[in-house]
Amino acid sequence: MAETVRAGRLVVAVDGPSGSGKSTVSRRLATQLAARYLDTGAMYRAVTWAVLRAGVEPQDADSVAKVAGETALRIGVDPADPRVTADGVPVDREIRGPEVTAAVSAVSAVPAVRELMVRRQREIIEEAGRIVVEGRDIGAVVAPDADLKVYLTASADARAQRRSAEFAADVSATAADLARRDKLDSTRATSPLQQAPDAVVLDTTELGIDEVVARLRGLLDGTVRP
Ligand code: C5P
Repeated sequence: MAETVRAGRLVVAVDGPSGSGKSTVSRRLATQLAARYLDTGAMYRAVTWAVLRAGVEPQDADSVAKVAGETALRIGVDPADPRVTADGVPVDREIRGPEVTAAVSAVSAVPAVRELMVRRQREIIEEAGRIVVEGRDIGAVVAPDADLKVYLTASADARAQRRSAEFAADVSATAADLARRDKLDSTRATSPLQQAPDAVVLDTTELGIDEVVARLRGLLDGTVRP
């Protein structure tokens, strides 16, 4: 592992459900490693934004696939400022809103959408060389040869608390939304949320962000064993 780090190429796959700490941990780790950062959830969210803008039903797989194929997505890979545009429109704020959040699981379950996104994600990873990639299927599907695969978890309560604090939303409504998305994301037919068999599982319920990042750095430089 340390070999790969010295050689320059470094791919870290961070998977897990919403509220497990993926985004904050991945961005901080990328900054510390002077690596790029890819938020694959933001890509599915941006496609969902385009689907809703087009007035297409998220359940209408053919129309969703058509919109996905026709939308020009640009996803920033700077961990300090990862911006997203769809057809030239900055959508960073809109993709975190309730409409997109309610529809994203249906859109991301469409096989043609996943095919497109996974292809684009692999190109971005290839181009970046050193990158921390977060999502649901990174270690298992997008980058099965990643140098380090991590699966972050946290109790349902902790995840709902974190998400509701982030969006100033009601905790019980957030918990219900997380449970709904977890179910959809982990039961869909095409590449459901899954833990790669060789991923290191870290429960972040009782851990601070810095502790998680330190643990991952230890795994990368071989000072911490999985
Ligand atoms: O990570 P985030 O909550 O922003 O992801 C939004 C949604 O995008 C997830 O609920 C899931 O439906 C989808 N997603 C996915 N595969 C990924 C990343 C996200 O299906 N690699």
